[in-house]
Amino acid sequence: MISFELPEQVKQQHAMSQTMAENLIRPVSRQLDENEHQKPWIFIHTIWPAIQEMEAGELARAEKKAAAQQAGERPAEKKEKKKTSAGTMMLAHMIEGMSWGDAGIYLCIPGGQLGGEAIKAVGTLEQKRRFMERFTKGDPKWGAMAITEPCCGSDTANIQTTAVLDQETNEWILNGEKIYVTSGLMAAQESDGIVVVWATVDKSAGRAGIKSFVVEAGTPGMKVAKIEDKLGIRASDTVSIVFEDCRIPYDNILGSPEVKRKDTTKGFKGAMQTFDASRPLVAASSMGIARATIEFVKEKLAENGIKVRYGVPRHKLTALERDVLEMEAQYKAAWLLTLRAVAMLDQRLPNALESSMCKAKAGKVVTFITQKAVEILGPLGYSRDLLVEKWMRDAKINDLFEGTGQINMLIVARRILGYTRHELK
Ligand SMILES: Cc1cc2nc3c(=O)[nH]c(=O)nc-3n(C[C@H](O)[C@H](O)[C@H](O)COP(=O)(O)OP(=O)(O)OC[C@H]3O[C@@H](n4cnc5c(N)ncnc54)[C@H](O)[C@@H]3O)c2cc1C
Repeated sequence: MISFELPEQVKQQHAMSQTMAENLIRPVSRQLDENEHQKPWIFIHTIWPAIQEMEAGELARAEKKAAAQQAGERPAEKKEKKKTSAGTMMLAHMIEGMSWGDAGIYLCIPGGQLGGEAIKAVGTLEQKRRFMERFTKGDPKWGAMAITEPCCGSDTANIQTTAVLDQETNEWILNGEKIYVTSGLMAAQESDGIVVVWATVDKSAGRAGIKSFVVEAGTPGMKVAKIEDKLGIRASDTVSIVFEDCRIPYDNILGSPEVKRKDTTKGFKGAMQTFDASRPLVAASSMGIARATIEFVKEKLAENGIKVRYGVPRHKLTALERDVLEMEAQYKAAWLLTLRAVAMLDQRLPNALESSMCKAKAGKVVTFITQKAVEILGPLGYSRDLLVEKWMRDAKINDLFEGTGQINMLIVARRILGYTRHELK
């Protein structure tokens, strides 16, 4: 039997993030939208202790696992693998709650973020200690993931940034340009953070040559070149980063440096798996914006004496009621797909299909819902006095980053129809 009842702990965390959204996030939402490069410092400092605790817990678990492995405790390791948790479910609900407040401010959250996730997924214990310990102490710090380049976003296999090994100094030398790096300013320049950079060690090897490297803030040769002015999520910083003869230690490569030409895509697929975990969380953020919008529209309609009727035959509904019901139905469909992808992660089940499915659906749905809200509310929806127009601008990013809607639908189609990426482009 499928139970849709949430564990008590998840409900409590969701309620907590909703309170934070109402009291710390929503009140500064418009101000940070109007002043793009300001930071929500009160929110950042409030949430930082919880992030530190979470990162410290993860590091401690990695230490424990490594110690057990060294002691040859294989059965315990196997048992742990099977164990399910509600960790991602809790995270998804917290993200949904914070994004109800403001999705751009939620993205300012300190911690390792996507860059940190890559280190946790494929890094050695030494790398986890060296790069992740900073997120357990001191002032807030950020991590970022730099994949996209001027020449390629969706087509990540075409990455041009190079990493060349200097045999004499045993250092990698990075050269290239990365664009649209979320939290790149905070990670590379304004805190003692880290940037995980995708670069090729051998262009002729295609995907097999692409590896990820950790570059610490302040490393000579890494420079923030441009801070973007954006349509939405304006509280979140998005930057271009240039690498010019940027030297990093040999041990900053994540995973094996070996280029396995025969087994061309295994390493690359491993790197792409980070997205299976992060796409449902992007979908959860979309759902926060969608819920905020639907609640607001219904509130405004109620203030004007319009109450949406449920259980009434379709032909007896007004056009407005049909619109609101359509918004709610689409919202619920996207949220259920998201919860399925999240639940599979917690059960350690492969979820590449479900992850892309929920991300594609949620991005489309939140775009539809916010545009519909502007349409229904008319001048009120278009006015900067209210947040609806802002939600419409914020919503669109969910259909762009972490794989555009088209790319995620392509992945879904390939997986359902059983085509390879060469057979269905
Ligand atoms: C605010 C913001 C934050 C971002 N944060 C990050 C970040 O932190 N790190 C990072 O590395 N990147 C980040 N990105 C980049 C983002 O992931 C890319 O913009 C995205 O992957 C699309 O790549 P592109 O811009 O090169 O577009 P393209 O790949 O050129 O795509 C252009 C259009 O063509 C469509 N398209 C492309 N290929 C196909 C195909 N095969 N079939 C059908 N349609 C196709 C796309 O869906 C899209 O509509 C961010 C972008 C933004 C706007």
